[in-house]
Amino acid sequence: MRKTLCFIAFLCGSQTLWAAHYQAAQGDVLRVPAPVSGKNITVKALGKHWPVYSKDGKYIAWIGIHLSVKPATYDIHWFAGDAASVHQAVDKLDVKKGNFRISHIKVAKKMSSFDQAALKRIRADQAAIKKAYQASVDVKPQWPAMIWPVEGIVSTPFAAQRYVNGEPRSPHSGLDIAAPTGTPVKAPLAGKVLLVADMFLNGTLVAIGHGDGLTTVYAHLNKAMVKVGDDVKQGDVFAEVGSSGRSTGPHLHWGVQFHGNKVNPLAMLGDHL
Ligand SMILES: [Zn+2]
Repeated sequence: MRKTLCFIAFLCGSQTLWAAHYQAAQGDVLRVPAPVSGKNITVKALGKHWPVYSKDGKYIAWIGIHLSVKPATYDIHWFAGDAASVHQAVDKLDVKKGNFRISHIKVAKKMSSFDQAALKRIRADQAAIKKAYQASVDVKPQWPAMIWPVEGIVSTPFAAQRYVNGEPRSPHSGLDIAAPTGTPVKAPLAGKVLLVADMFLNGTLVAIGHGDGLTTVYAHLNKAMVKVGDDVKQGDVFAEVGSSGRSTGPHLHWGVQFHGNKVNPLAMLGDHL
């Protein structure tokens, strides 16, 4: 993600405002400093409102860019103040195509399809995950920089696109981190456990809600040590790495959704300021 590249002056009514111009790629999470000051700072971009966090007197919006947002230039609308006096500003955001890995594999036809019973389970599993993503959680992440849930090697990057026998599969919705079975998995941020389940493809899966529309999922676990409704603090061990479900070896599949957008977990690590 690249930050401010240039500033463009433009006229709005009788005031000259300055708009920053940002660049980001599909799957990024952009941190944008507020160009407005005052009370009730809000921001809207890509058709949604985004959380604004304050730290050391600075107000910064976190904007998630779904991995399949169309590459184009978008407006970031800022508002501050009350009904009597609203200040506004508009920043610009260029979304570029993500540089995602593409691979082709060939498998015997019967290996690449599922029977009706399996498809039924897969659909039920997907519905349970979707419900967890849409759950609202009463947790207020004040500055939601995450820590790594496990230490290991990234074996499959975010949004990797696989073609099986020439047919495109869904882009990889998270990040795979290879680590031995039994490696502790830590909560990257405080939150509440939304889902613990055994799934056909994902194996043992945990979903954690962190508030402000931010949810993380962990799949192919060896075991989960939490139950739905448990609170976790950043760094709490809640599961072990495994190879459950459809998996070719022990690894953690880590997915992040931010206001319904699948974003790169790497973009949530550290402050990135
Ligand atoms: Zn994965």
